[in-house]
Amino acid sequence: MNIAILSRNRKLYSTRRLMEAAADRGHKVRVLDHLRCFMDITSDKPSLHYRDEEFDSESFDAVIPRIGASVTFYGCSVVRQFEMMGVYGVNESVAISRSRDKLRSLQLLSRKGLGIPATAFAHSPDDVPGLIREVGGAPLVIKLLEGTQGIGVVLAETRKAAESVIEAFMGLHSNILVQEFIEEAKGSDIRCLVVGGKVIAAMQRTAPEGEFRSNLHRGGTAELVRLSAAERATAVAAAKAMGLNVCGVDLLRSSRGPLIMEVNSSPGLEGIEAATGKDVAGMIIGFIESNAKPNRTRTRGKG
Ligand code: ADP
Ligand code: MG
Repeated sequence: MNIAILSRNRKLYSTRRLMEAAADRGHKVRVLDHLRCFMDITSDKPSLHYRDEEFDSESFDAVIPRIGASVTFYGCSVVRQFEMMGVYGVNESVAISRSRDKLRSLQLLSRKGLGIPATAFAHSPDDVPGLIREVGGAPLVIKLLEGTQGIGVVLAETRKAAESVIEAFMGLHSNILVQEFIEEAKGSDIRCLVVGGKVIAAMQRTAPEGEFRSNLHRGGTAELVRLSAAERATAVAAAKAMGLNVCGVDLLRSSRGPLIMEVNSSPGLEGIEAATGKDVAGMIIGFIESNAKPNRTRTRGKG
């Protein structure tokens, strides 16, 4: 097959591993910087330009989007163009943009009756007391809707602290959500890597001393973990609700069972491959081998 990886940098671990895994399995692979892709959207035959080249619906059998959070809008428009060309995308543009908005994601998960921490959202500073009450008071967690890597996630230990942080974010016109703090998770979360409706690898991440955010970018450490049947089922259901074929589902172990914290549509492969010793990149390529067919995307760019 001819596979395109949309990635800003071919040296990134995840990009490199996907290139290797595709080449090992006898595929031709190209890394395209999505910010250098451009398109003529008025043409009746959708195509895509890349630097001095032009691609059409025959150029690739599958595309693997690895779109960074800071370029979601443009990256998704490139993925959508591939969909319009009938090229099979591992994750669809609509599903990627959904996953980038924490509030929208939680609304979708909640609609399917999946467990999430008590979460509230408001616009007006007048509603701050109500917002805090909805999630059961302090301590509580405040999150920027479009934050990643733990940046923009704050723990407010008292009601007073919560009020002033929420008011400060509102004053800056930042969109935030307020969430119940799951204390019993003790600074750990579980990352489940879901590929094609199955959890193929899982790790537990633990925050360093004095920190509640377990992100590896914030100094968290990762180890292999055994999932319960409920955790496995929750991760698979979350991926399905989001419409993502490949994703990282993050769960908190709470006293009332697994709660979904977020679903990542471009999960990093370095931490999970190191913690589990599994060939996650190879499994993603294997999924493409069994699923990539022309015009197989559900939305065909109609999202
Ligand atoms: P980001 O997208 O920046 O990674 P997350 O929502 O995943 O944001 O939060 C970052 C980290 O903060 C999580 O990995 C988890 O360790 C911790 N955390 C987030 N929400 C909660 C919560 N409601 N209760 C306890 N810990 C939380
Ligand atoms: Mg996270």
